[in-house]
Amino acid sequence: MIRPVMTCDRDLCQAIYRPDVDSGADVLERAARSYGWRRLTATSHTCPGCAVSRGPVLELGDCPVCSGRTLDHADGAQCHYCRIVIPHRDDLDDLDDAAWDGRGVVNTKDGPVVGGDDWS
Ligand SMILES: [Zn+2]
Ligand SMILES: [Zn+2]
Repeated sequence: MIRPVMTCDRDLCQAIYRPDVDSGADVLERAARSYGWRRLTATSHTCPGCAVSRGPVLELGDCPVCSGRTLDHADGAQCHYCRIVIPHRDDLDDLDDAAWDGRGVVNTKDGPVVGGDDWS
């Protein structure tokens, strides 16, 4: 099948935005622009990295916005080019667990008792 994608028209830049679903050129453009892609002319665009002088994208990776290389940080994988941060999946699982830790428990001199804002 043929699916519209957005590519960067700057020399050497390999940035490409692939939408999750084939939603047509208009929707593609709106989605891409919400991520920082910029229209140059009616038919040419520049990627978020080049738009802020962090391009051209020379190394491809897992970035969902520009397909650039991502680097792992504590709070997620960050694109080297457009700077978007993709949260680690493990962190999302941890957050689920953390939400239950200590909820509604108040530490008193007699030990932890049920209480706190969630129970009042
Ligand atoms: Zn670019
Ligand atoms: Zn990127």
